[in-house]
Amino acid sequence: MARYTGASCRMCRRESLKLFLKGDRCYSDKCAFERRSFAPGQHGQNRFRKVSDYATQLREKQKVKQIYGMLEAQFKLYFERADRAKGVTGANLLILLERRLDNALYRAGFASSRNQARQFVRHSHFLVNGKKVNIPSYQVTAGDVITVKEKSSKNELIKDNIEGAVRRGVPSWLEIDQTKMQGTVKALPNREEITMPIQEQLIVELYSK
Ligand code: SF4
Repeated sequence: MARYTGASCRMCRRESLKLFLKGDRCYSDKCAFERRSFAPGQHGQNRFRKVSDYATQLREKQKVKQIYGMLEAQFKLYFERADRAKGVTGANLLILLERRLDNALYRAGFASSRNQARQFVRHSHFLVNGKKVNIPSYQVTAGDVITVKEKSSKNELIKDNIEGAVRRGVPSWLEIDQTKMQGTVKALPNREEITMPIQEQLIVELYSK
């Protein structure tokens, strides 16, 4: 699956929000947003730009796409799926994104960023219910048990990440056993535990035009 390979920090500056795309660097004083918290480009410091409703909705969609590392086509598919499901479309969309295996690994602390989690999955470092899964978009469900493959359990990056997981906090829908290097999906994620400031109704409005 294609993915964005451009400058990550530029996206945080564009959205005026830390999107935590670069793992440990995001928590250090090297964070580009901490140093230059204005939009990139020649006119980035122009504070008097008029913003239309469309631009606001578009930026909200771009922000969520960037947080979860999606490109447009794939994101649209998630939206269509959320729209077909029962319940509130915006919340459904975020929950579908949260249920991605790469996101679950990141939220559980096995990876320092969703990008790193995606690479771990692609390199088959993890098992779900004892079976190899190398598809980052795999949807986890309640009862799934995610374990580090035995061969990968000596991976220093994964070990360091698990030790540092406390810093970010693990959501209540996941349970982590650090000694076994194992995560259990206790329940489906809920909207309240997605703490990034996201106004999902703007995305619904954008796609409903
Ligand atoms: Fe965003 Fe992380 Fe770069 Fe900071 S270091 S600007 S939070 S991607």
